[in-house]
Amino acid sequence: MSTDSFPTLPPAARVGDPLERIDTPALVLDLDAFERNLDLMQAKARAAGVALRPHAKAHKTPQVALAQIARGAVGICCQKVSEALPFLEAGVTDIHISNEVVGAAKLALLAQAARVGRFSVCVDDAGQVAELAAACAAQGSRVDVFVEINVGQDRCGVAGAPEVLSILQVISAHPQQLAFKGLQAYQGRVQHIRSREERRAAALAASARTAAVVAALQAAGIACPVVTGGGSGSVEFELAGGIYNEVQPGSSAFMDADYGANEYGDALRFEHSLFVLASVMSRVDERQAIVDAGLKSMSAESGLPRVWGRQGVEYAVISDEHGNLRGGAPLPQLGERVLLVPGHCDPTFNLHDELVCLRGGVVEAIWPVAARGLSR
Ligand code: PLP
Ligand code: MN
Repeated sequence: MSTDSFPTLPPAARVGDPLERIDTPALVLDLDAFERNLDLMQAKARAAGVALRPHAKAHKTPQVALAQIARGAVGICCQKVSEALPFLEAGVTDIHISNEVVGAAKLALLAQAARVGRFSVCVDDAGQVAELAAACAAQGSRVDVFVEINVGQDRCGVAGAPEVLSILQVISAHPQQLAFKGLQAYQGRVQHIRSREERRAAALAASARTAAVVAALQAAGIACPVVTGGGSGSVEFELAGGIYNEVQPGSSAFMDADYGANEYGDALRFEHSLFVLASVMSRVDERQAIVDAGLKSMSAESGLPRVWGRQGVEYAVISDEHGNLRGGAPLPQLGERVLLVPGHCDPTFNLHDELVCLRGGVVEAIWPVAARGLSR
């Protein structure tokens, strides 16, 4: 058997291809909608006098971060040290790890990365601070530190000001390695409350808890330069509230179906820019059209994908490699392309090697999802 007859997988798309020629399933970005989303978020942050540090865990794609920074973002958030590396390599030099980093190997990597870029990280444990300082000392680097406070999510973060003050004592014992930068106060449970009024009330409750900690630090003579937090569902309230001076929305650039199901007023509304392009692969049963994009192309833990631009057609059942489209409206024919709005953008990006960027239905660029799979 000769090896020169072995087929190689051609690229799913090439610059200049029309949408109809993209092989499926593919993750596609409508650049016009995406850029409008970036411009809107940046304009709102600028008008509020709040720094924008978009979360890169949503997309894991360095070109997205560079487009945000070109518009005025101060840097990015990453959730993991490994996730940050492709961004650092692409020239993103100001990265906040909006998460606790535990263990010698991860801390060594963080301290090493901090020799190349400016890094900050969250802590919620005094013992961890000492290990972070030791890792920085070994690398000869310096890291900015945020103490994370629990403002209602009940995930990471200390309970209140007394705990912050005792962690600050350990931070200040390592002035060569660590600098206290401020508080992280992220309330994830607020983001998908459907009613805008209920979302506002929950966001304000988190802000009030944050303000109480800032006031207690001030009373103790401690400046808190940065208060960071906020996500795509709550950011309009953090921008208006006067407590946060930095916000971290990630999904607002894309708007998945879960965020799309929130009620928004006219204040801040983003467009769907991210889609999974699928093809109809079976029409044996006339009551349904089977598409070739299932759980290996998009996550469904936050809800099923929405079928884009085909009123009355529903993505009814998801399985590993298939989706069952049903509904009263005429269903797409065998081979027809269908755009799906994924339920949750973050884990969906993590399933794809590349993002096919379209303008006016034509491929303009193909961006590597370079941090895909980097979750250490
Ligand atoms: N900041 C942190 C620490 C988060 O964990 C998240 C999302 O989980 C966000 C910000 C906001 O992300 P998004 O706007 O994509 O919901
Ligand atoms: Mn998310």
